[in-house]
Amino acid sequence: MTREDVGGEIWQPNLEDMTVSLQALGRLPRGMVKETRKALDHARRFVDEVVRPRALELDRLLQEDPLHLPWDLVEEANRWGLYTMFLPRLFGGKGYNLPALSYVLEELASACTGIANLVGVHYLGVATLTASWNVRLMNRIMRETVEGERNGRPCLISLAITEPEAGTDVEEVELLKRARVTCRAERVRGGYVVNGRKIFISNGHLSTWHMLVAYEDLEHPEKGTVMLAVRTGTKGFSFGRVEHKMGQKACPASELVFEDCFIPDENVCFDPSYLRKMERASSYLGGLRRDLEGYTAQVIHYVVSTSRAGVGGFATGVARGAFQEALRFALQTELGGRRLIEHEWARCVLAEMYKNVALARLSYVETNYANSLYGMFRILLWKPTYYLMKLMPQVFFDRVLQPVLRWEGTTHLFRWLMMEGQKDEEIQRTSGWASLSKFAASDFGLRNCQLALELMGRSGVRHEMAVEKHLRDSKLLQIYEGTNQLNRLNLFHCLVARDFPELRTFDE
Ligand SMILES: Cc1cc2nc3c(=O)[nH]c(=O)nc-3n(C[C@H](O)[C@H](O)[C@H](O)COP(=O)(O)OP(=O)(O)OC[C@H]3O[C@@H](n4cnc5c(N)ncnc54)[C@H](O)[C@@H]3O)c2cc1C
Repeated sequence: MTREDVGGEIWQPNLEDMTVSLQALGRLPRGMVKETRKALDHARRFVDEVVRPRALELDRLLQEDPLHLPWDLVEEANRWGLYTMFLPRLFGGKGYNLPALSYVLEELASACTGIANLVGVHYLGVATLTASWNVRLMNRIMRETVEGERNGRPCLISLAITEPEAGTDVEEVELLKRARVTCRAERVRGGYVVNGRKIFISNGHLSTWHMLVAYEDLEHPEKGTVMLAVRTGTKGFSFGRVEHKMGQKACPASELVFEDCFIPDENVCFDPSYLRKMERASSYLGGLRRDLEGYTAQVIHYVVSTSRAGVGGFATGVARGAFQEALRFALQTELGGRRLIEHEWARCVLAEMYKNVALARLSYVETNYANSLYGMFRILLWKPTYYLMKLMPQVFFDRVLQPVLRWEGTTHLFRWLMMEGQKDEEIQRTSGWASLSKFAASDFGLRNCQLALELMGRSGVRHEMAVEKHLRDSKLLQIYEGTNQLNRLNLFHCLVARDFPELRTFDE
């Protein structure tokens, strides 16, 4: 085929997508820099004092007893304030800026991705709760986490979406239409009754709250997606098995079982009825931007655009952990009468590994800029709200604002701003960058583990050298938060195919 046969103009990337970090210059608050350094410093101390001394021993223990639950570490992370660090001050948290979370996860994962996940998954739950923009529930649940820090009883949040017959399919609305889901939420007077199972739920057994995604109509799940906040101990809800998995062993992957489990209206984060309310409210303003399917997709994109930046942080951490071990080995090992580090080929391998870490990090940084300008973080990182949150005394949020946060009108206002206020191209930019970071960083993570093992030879396969653990941990990063194949398709869908309306992303 010749160039003429192919025809048409050469495709060009969108200038807005190319210049996200440039646009962020000057638009984001300067206070974020100092705050991020402080968060990183705190994370480093936690790694030195808690994570590194325990990571390998815990991995060995869990190999022998996969049912062991690392409560002691969760309590330690709670004491260190890690579960409230990134909750807004509005809801009683410490209010660190959310882009700093990826850096913190990188620090933790450089020593142990499993322990990093004990912290990171909690914020996946927080992101899911936030994506519903149900301010009343956000206030209630996040304040319980804050209280849990005060009284030493950790209150974690998990996300439960994966089902025995549906993993990839429930992460994409286009695939959801044909997904074989079985977790049903039936509308009854005063709430929903749930029946079904969820599997591979990280931190399941350790969490107090579970953001449960279920469906009103199992034949058409995309038309009736429901998100419910389920508290551990609710009648009809129990825990099933804990998976015996290859890596990230510190973080349990749990089965959740629902049998005629009644969830009252006050715990409904989001269901199709909210759209009807928004439709009524918007009828004077020219109607809504999207239909029900469009809003369901938007909620999913809101969650994955932030959570995949978190996986970018984990993956950069694992890439860095492998690099640090390889560097240490090269400095300490002699080969042919010289230290390994003095061999040119070894320096090339180490430079390649350093590059992988740096590019993985850049991918999540750019994604977080996109989230800060166009996605979930934009409301908190807009300079007036950022400085208001920083400067107001805490008592103002804890006492004066409480009636406002509990008022239903506040939820409507937030939904209006955050759902209606986000354009399609902004969803595509944040979600496309998040997918890029997720698969690029996790591929770099696994690659660095392989390079470290090649450099270290037989020494690298020893458990005490930590690299074989990094390798087992890193593989899982290519699977969860949407497999890397799905994320490649999502990038194509968001950042390329939008210019070719005739293309479908997924095969029929
Ligand atoms: C350690 C771990 C922790 C997890 N934690 C959570 C959690 O906290 N909460 C939660 O809800 N879930 C969690 N999960 C589940 C995770 O999100 C799913 O494993 C993931 O979405 C992939 O789904 P699957 O495993 O069912 O793979 P499948 O969907 O069965 O996919 C199998 C293969 O087919 C490919 N494939 C599938 N569909 C398509 C398509 N349309 N086009 C191209 N290729 C396709 C996939 O890329 C993959 O290679 C976790 C999983 C793991 C391993």
